[in-house]
Amino acid sequence: MTIRLPEKAAYIIDVLEQAGHEAFAVGGCVRDSCLSRTPKDWDITTSATPQQVMALFPHTVDTGMKHGTITVMLRGEGFEVTTYRIDGIYEDGRHPQQVTFTGSLEEDLKRRDFTVNAMAYNPRCGLVDLFGGRRDLSARIIRCVGDAKARFEEDALRILRAVRFAAQLDFSIEQDTQLAIRDLAGNLDKISAERIRAELSQLITSPHPERLLEAYKLGVTAVILPEFDAAMRQPQNSTHHIYSVGIHTIKSMAAIPADEVLRTAMLLHDLGKTDAVTVDDAGIYHFKKHAAFSEETGRKILRRLKYDNASRNRILRLVACHSLYPEETPEGVRTAVYRIGPDLFEDFLLVKRADTLGQNPQVWVKKLAYLERIGELYRQIRERGDCLSLNQLQVRGSDLVDAGMQPGPQIGAVLERMLQDVLQCPVHNEKTYLMEQLRAGRYEHESAPAPAPAKGSARHPADFG
Ligand code: ATP
Ligand code: MG
Repeated sequence: MTIRLPEKAAYIIDVLEQAGHEAFAVGGCVRDSCLSRTPKDWDITTSATPQQVMALFPHTVDTGMKHGTITVMLRGEGFEVTTYRIDGIYEDGRHPQQVTFTGSLEEDLKRRDFTVNAMAYNPRCGLVDLFGGRRDLSARIIRCVGDAKARFEEDALRILRAVRFAAQLDFSIEQDTQLAIRDLAGNLDKISAERIRAELSQLITSPHPERLLEAYKLGVTAVILPEFDAAMRQPQNSTHHIYSVGIHTIKSMAAIPADEVLRTAMLLHDLGKTDAVTVDDAGIYHFKKHAAFSEETGRKILRRLKYDNASRNRILRLVACHSLYPEETPEGVRTAVYRIGPDLFEDFLLVKRADTLGQNPQVWVKKLAYLERIGELYRQIRERGDCLSLNQLQVRGSDLVDAGMQPGPQIGAVLERMLQDVLQCPVHNEKTYLMEQLRAGRYEHESAPAPAPAKGSARHPADFG
């Protein structure tokens, strides 16, 4: 078994060995190389202490010296070099209280989560595989190193990591490992939101977001995302839908590109349906205003999981707008672009497409053709460069002040009305014209009702979507 190490990783290993230490590539990079996948990064494990590592390389960064990790910088590229260690007692299943450095590679590999992640490699010794990692790679199995229950008791995050790796690699989870997950999933409530988000996000942006169902079946989502379990219990009998809200959610996630904002938007887009549901006399389910409910539920979830503001904002805007149906005219599309936000309109179309593909296949043709036409209108609008936002309006606030208006909120309101006019009729985006109309009193009063920009909740008669 030969793995081609990148030159710099090979160099670091060589320098450490020349100085009398042991050093190996370890973990994800070895796993991915065995699978002929391109590793994300190359981590190195060594018998050298952090001080010894720092002394051997001119440029190092202390990334976690307490835990034995030093980043070695080589011409702008960083490599994490970690001293062999044994993880101390886990306090509350969170993180090791302290770590102990060791001279034994075996001890270091033993502390790792799964057999496929517990292999090491260097050119001199070849592959070091003490726990059957290669066997499990061939059988496509995620299996804990050692006793699964004990390993999950030490660190409950490993429970979610098992499903994450299964989804990324399209592996199954070994029986004992599954049983231990069922038993101990409850311990995930002690894990920090940041760590949960990182793993959940990797799970849903994997090639197999449908493996979230396995997390559901094993009792994992009940702890980290109970709103999803509620969606699994929510039927939705209508012409649009043949699946529960949960299964529809899964199918729509699988139908959108693997981007965190997009996949998360699909994960959340219908979770508010459990709050919006009504059933009519004919047994048909309705979910009026469910996009607004989903936005609320989504906000709570993203806060709880400590998503950053920028992602949260984009995700929630998509959720809030997902059941809008722009009118099939240039005006209708421009108004929708303005309302949704020009930065998100293409993503909005992807969301609508994915939402459709999670519905009754009988509605696909009609809805997808509609979305194609909206997309085409949008392309034409972009090509022409139609004005879609206040930035593109030919009149500024200062023009209104120059024309004698008092500075204040009234300025914004007039600009807004001018924009509404221009959205309906792009040729009106001309300073002379707009100022003439202003003088003629056209923008003085709330004439055409201005739809609120995307922050608000989207609504549409077809609240099935
Ligand atoms: P990826 O390519 O997705 O980064 P990875 O295997 O490198 O996968 P990391 O989270 O970067 O995963 O962790 C690096 C290595 O550290 C893992 O391969 C595993 O050996 C070990 N490891 C990480 N987290 C844990 C944990 N919670 N418990 C035990 N071992 C862990
Ligand atoms: Mg990694």
